[in-house]
Amino acid sequence: MEITFLGTGTGIPQDGRVQSGVLLDTEKNLLLFDCGCGVLGRIYESRHNHKDIDAIILTHLHLDHVGDVLALIKANWLVGRTDMRLYGPQGTREWFEKTLNVYDYLRDKFTVEITELSPGDEFVPQGTEGDCNCTVRCAKTVHTENSLAYRVESNGKTMVYTGDTEPCEEVMELAEDADVLIHECSFPLGFPMTNHTTPDMLTLMMEEYPLTAKKLYLTHLYPHMQGRYREATDHIKKYYKGEVIVAKDLMVVEL
Ligand SMILES: [Zn+2]
Ligand SMILES: [Zn+2]
Repeated sequence: MEITFLGTGTGIPQDGRVQSGVLLDTEKNLLLFDCGCGVLGRIYESRHNHKDIDAIILTHLHLDHVGDVLALIKANWLVGRTDMRLYGPQGTREWFEKTLNVYDYLRDKFTVEITELSPGDEFVPQGTEGDCNCTVRCAKTVHTENSLAYRVESNGKTMVYTGDTEPCEEVMELAEDADVLIHECSFPLGFPMTNHTTPDMLTLMMEEYPLTAKKLYLTHLYPHMQGRYREATDHIKKYYKGEVIVAKDLMVVEL
């Protein structure tokens, strides 16, 4: 399993961080988790090819997580690939249909198979050549009404990706014994916030539900986090024995 952080930023532009996107290479399949603005360019920079992505899996439908979905599907069409499988929370079909309605010239150019997911669902994503070699489990997050986190298992390795959320019991459970937990950490220590995570919100949760994932990567970093990364990892390390790493765009993690 190989993880590439494509975008570790948010809706506010900053140096070196585009919006949300995580690419997972299972050695047979390429799965893209979230696809915010800038992610399509990052796929190119990562030396992967957008047309090789088997499926796109969305945590929620905020613009910084979906902004490049249609751009990616159009890029595929421009190079002759006209199919895609799109997974996401309830509402994904309506969002995609409405988005496509604005671009009538694209309507008949490709086929997008959409699967809407709910907390507790477990599925094998479909790729260009049938079943992918992984299973994906969904859990509820605390962000939008239907937002989801995902746990992916493939070849004995496990990655959990939260998307946007407050720290919550469901995510801690989903991350049980995972090799890697990619948890959002939007704002710095002490920042008053709901629906997102700060280091102290995360450690408060850890006190109640100890984190058993082996490594923790922090992503979805607002510009407010600049200069506060070390403080964040130092704080979390007081409550967590594993490695804590602040993710960067185009960082590659081998499992
Ligand atoms: Zn969001
Ligand atoms: Zn976001």
